[in-house]
Amino acid sequence: MLSQVVQLIEQKQRFMITSHVRPDGDGLGSGLALYWMLRALNKDVDVVLRDRVPPSYEVLPGSELVIVQDDVTAIYEGAFIIECSDVDRPGLPSLRNQFVVNIDHHSTTVAFGDINWIDSTAAAVGEMIYNLCKALGVEVTKEIAECIYTALLTDTGSFHFSNTTERTLKIASELVRRGVEPARISQALFYSSSFAKIKLLGLVLSDIERDESGRIAWITLDRATMYQANACDEDADGIVNQALSIADVEAVAFFKELSPGAYRISLRSKGKHNVAKVAELFGGGGHRNAAGCRIQGDFEDVKRQIIEGLQNAVGVAPVSA
Ligand code: 5GP
Ligand code: MN
Repeated sequence: MLSQVVQLIEQKQRFMITSHVRPDGDGLGSGLALYWMLRALNKDVDVVLRDRVPPSYEVLPGSELVIVQDDVTAIYEGAFIIECSDVDRPGLPSLRNQFVVNIDHHSTTVAFGDINWIDSTAAAVGEMIYNLCKALGVEVTKEIAECIYTALLTDTGSFHFSNTTERTLKIASELVRRGVEPARISQALFYSSSFAKIKLLGLVLSDIERDESGRIAWITLDRATMYQANACDEDADGIVNQALSIADVEAVAFFKELSPGAYRISLRSKGKHNVAKVAELFGGGGHRNAAGCRIQGDFEDVKRQIIEGLQNAVGVAPVSA
């Protein structure tokens, strides 16, 4: 819990911070905000990630300090794992040998750390990091504010999703007071797409499908289409949300072929429909309205299973997809 995290930071000196593979705005923003907070307290800190910082997140102060490695090579007095459902999600095997502090807001997260601070009421881990900043008595500098704002902005879908609360907006307001320029962050995150990303979006959207009920839709992306658009993996991020923008559609899936017979699946829903439960059936997890998993197998089989899962989640009687 929070008090244990505060105590550890006050008593120890040498820390590392990490988040999951394919880092996102909450993992990066919360991790880098924590970095600046620890630096303000004169601590020694490394931010270590398995995957590089996506170019749109280079707007975050400190993003250039991230160490990209396949494993952890030093011993720390505390390793903060941000936004991860299990100790393997960062993709750094030797983390198991560290004193692990698990900080997350997913209801599906297990208590894998030596210290576990999990708050499923937080819209983003960024909200928790803001509370930690206050608890440590660290001033919210412009750097910290920009990092936390990015975490809130991305995990709430630009304050569109149902996890957006009065608390989220109050914190965001305070962050703007501390120097955040919302338009500058939004410009970097949402208006800096590569040409390939938009090309890719056009190719996959032209083949979007839905079931007979019209309440479930899905988008498929295979390797050949990636190649055709000259796209990289990061260019596929966010495509899933396009399907959810359709009126009457309540739950959606995005099937991305990783290699022949291996798929990454992103699930999204509106309102009370729980797609984390669907992802969990296949060994994944996430939140009620945003979840994911990986599946191997014949594509038609994988697709049928996921669509049936979504139909059950929204209460559609299964019909042929
Ligand atoms: P995305 O579809 O953006 O990759 O993931 C949406 C959310 O689902 C993530 O924020 C994360 O909470 C969760 N998620 C995605 N993939 C996995 C997975 O393989 N395992 C678990 N436990 N959660 C996942
Ligand atoms: Mn998050």
